[in-house]
Amino acid sequence: MSKKIEICDFCGVQDSERNPVISGDKANICKMCAKSAYDIICEHEGEGGSFSKNMTTQNENKGNVLRTPKELKAILDEYVIGQDRAKKVLSVAVYNHYKRVFESSNIDDNIELAKSNVLLIGPTGSGKTLLAQTIAKYLDVPLAIADATSLTEAGYVGDDVENIVTRLIQAADGDIKKAEQGIIFIDEIDKIARMSENRSITRDVSGEGVQQALLKIIEGSIVNVPPKGGRKHPGGDAIQLDTTNVLFICGGAFGGLTDIIGKKQGGNTLGFNSEKKTKKQREAILEMVEADDLVKFGLIPELIGRLHMVATLGEIDEDAMIHILSEPKNALTKQYRKLFSMDNVNLEFEDEALKEIAQKAIKRKTGARGLRSIMEDVMLDIMYELPEYKNQTIVITKDVVNKTKQGVEV
Ligand code: ADP
Repeated sequence: MSKKIEICDFCGVQDSERNPVISGDKANICKMCAKSAYDIICEHEGEGGSFSKNMTTQNENKGNVLRTPKELKAILDEYVIGQDRAKKVLSVAVYNHYKRVFESSNIDDNIELAKSNVLLIGPTGSGKTLLAQTIAKYLDVPLAIADATSLTEAGYVGDDVENIVTRLIQAADGDIKKAEQGIIFIDEIDKIARMSENRSITRDVSGEGVQQALLKIIEGSIVNVPPKGGRKHPGGDAIQLDTTNVLFICGGAFGGLTDIIGKKQGGNTLGFNSEKKTKKQREAILEMVEADDLVKFGLIPELIGRLHMVATLGEIDEDAMIHILSEPKNALTKQYRKLFSMDNVNLEFEDEALKEIAQKAIKRKTGARGLRSIMEDVMLDIMYELPEYKNQTIVITKDVVNKTKQGVEV
């Protein structure tokens, strides 16, 4: 048996220095899978159970395979346009997180690896949620998405935070073990900033209480959740879930943060107006964010201390919008083309049409989020008549987008 660059037949991971793939005559296996197989065999010998079943389960769960930062970023590149730095930060954070989860127990040196949760700062519709969704889907780990603002209404009653955990259990189909290695994305974390003299905020003072409650689950604690929603739990009222190995990704637009950073960098509190800066300048300023800027914004230092990796995302400009419409693996134009081809209709988008859609989305100020509804609006009438256009080509022009013309050409 010789070692060469190969792909593991069990989990599909590529050969790497950290996780070499051993190739045999008929199959390849990576170090991680070999280790798992060894553990299962040991367990089997101890318990007399069936290990072939266990091995299959192990390998179906991609979440148990450590992906390198480069592998993770390559996947993000397929779905998320731009935001290069955020993709890198997230890839490294996810790699470190699961390395800690899967491997640190194998090294007996009493050094405890800290949890590396992530904070994504960027305008609405810039891809924060998409990043979390893409990573979770690729790793095949459950993902719960929660909105921090929904926690504000009820103050800092523990139940609310438990709801997030309940959602994670639901996403894991009731499998607590799976949920304990899942991802929780908390959106709009900036909206629970505490009141501060420097900023005029119209929210109530409970922000700080909610932050405290979140802190507990983010830093890792055993949460008692009611069994509702999850799979029935024999004999127990509450289900316990340990959040120690749950990866938390928090996101927020943090409007006004650029001013806070800019004033600090500029050395004075007067005369800095981020509105007067270009998009590039604003993004460069935002990238300089430090913990004390976030404290000034209204996050409690303990929470910031738990969000080790901070990444900023840029506004989606017209060019990026056009790329988003056509490039990602599941880009909207690709989805429509597929839908049309199922009716034997060929669909084309003129560049000017995409530009027009992008401009409409920018006017909505909801980032790339607006693209879908604009597209749906443009396509509705055509979709309505689609079955009648078999074997034809439909071209979407700028006029079609502006509804000054029907989008049919043969
Ligand atoms: P937010 O930053 O507010 O969390 P989302 O990730 O929810 O934004 O983005 C909303 C939608 O816009 C996504 O589902 C995706 O279709 C699109 N989108 C946003 N940013 C990007 C991006 N950088 N690349 C590709 N699609 C994007």
